Amino acid sequence: EVGAGERIEALLSDIPDIAYAGYGEGAVADYIPGLREVPPRQYGVAIACQDGTLYQAGEAGQQFSIQSISKLFTLALALRLAGEAVWARVGRDPCMRKFNSVSEVEANLGIPSNPFINAGALAITDLIVSHSSAPRRILQDLLRRLIDTDDIFSDPRIARGEAEVGHRNAALGYLLKDYGNLDNRVEDVLSVYYAHCAIAMSCLELAQSALFLACDGVSPITGQRIVSADQTREINAVLATCGMYNGAGEFAFKVGIPAKSGVGGGILAIVPQRMTICAWSPELDPHGNSVVGQRILQHLVKQIRASVY
Ligand code: GLN
Repeated sequence: EVGAGERIEALLSDIPDIAYAGYGEGAVADYIPGLREVPPRQYGVAIACQDGTLYQAGEAGQQFSIQSISKLFTLALALRLAGEAVWARVGRDPCMRKFNSVSEVEANLGIPSNPFINAGALAITDLIVSHSSAPRRILQDLLRRLIDTDDIFSDPRIARGEAEVGHRNAALGYLLKDYGNLDNRVEDVLSVYYAHCAIAMSCLELAQSALFLACDGVSPITGQRIVSADQTREINAVLATCGMYNGAGEFAFKVGIPAKSGVGGGILAIVPQRMTICAWSPELDPHGNSVVGQRILQHLVKQIRASVY
């Protein structure tokens, strides 16, 4: 594919204009201390191809709080540890309410609609706590192994801030507990959940670490199998329908690839059998998805004709 590289490089030179045009349309997450101090007008983007080729623009090496992007890796980890038992704890349907809705859990009698809303991630984290002797660092260790680095940490200041204001997440935890969908102590599950959300990574690191989802479950960087080919397809399907929360339909319409967002402003997207793309910019739309990040993805995916639809 001679020329594909130059084509991607040329597309990336359009990104600064796209970013500048979108600044000011969203707002930085202000409900988590530590996130509201992040300078809003910045962006990064990284593309990791199956063969290991990397492309980048903006602050692609700048680490940011991955927040709910962690939920993608939490799901992969839980599938590794507990297999199909995961699907007794959460559903696989989009949720029309906000990602931290309490009424959603109540309406579904304690089985969250999907693993990517907060309640779903808490139930999955509970499974990890039950199956692991070091649940607090198991995700960080997986991410380090995936890209062969020691430079990935959870930021204790962000995790502490989240715990201090996390009354709604605590409510979700207690409601799950009441429905019998949490085996461990609510406090223990919450603290592991916050540790995972507070992991800091860059676009380059995230794009590389998710390559297994573009490669039938095997990391092309280390050769390690993370999940089976069937589980890879299943994770990508749930990402496509639920990864952008109640903005998932709009994102499928405009962009059309599986993706997971976080309130740190990151969006990690998968082009199955081809590449991963991570875009980051802190200002969010009302669903909690990065405004500029979505625009960057829309541009790139359209130009390289990567929509799965
Ligand atoms: N840690 C955040 C929370 O619990 C994650 C939310 C998100 O990134 N959408 O609210």
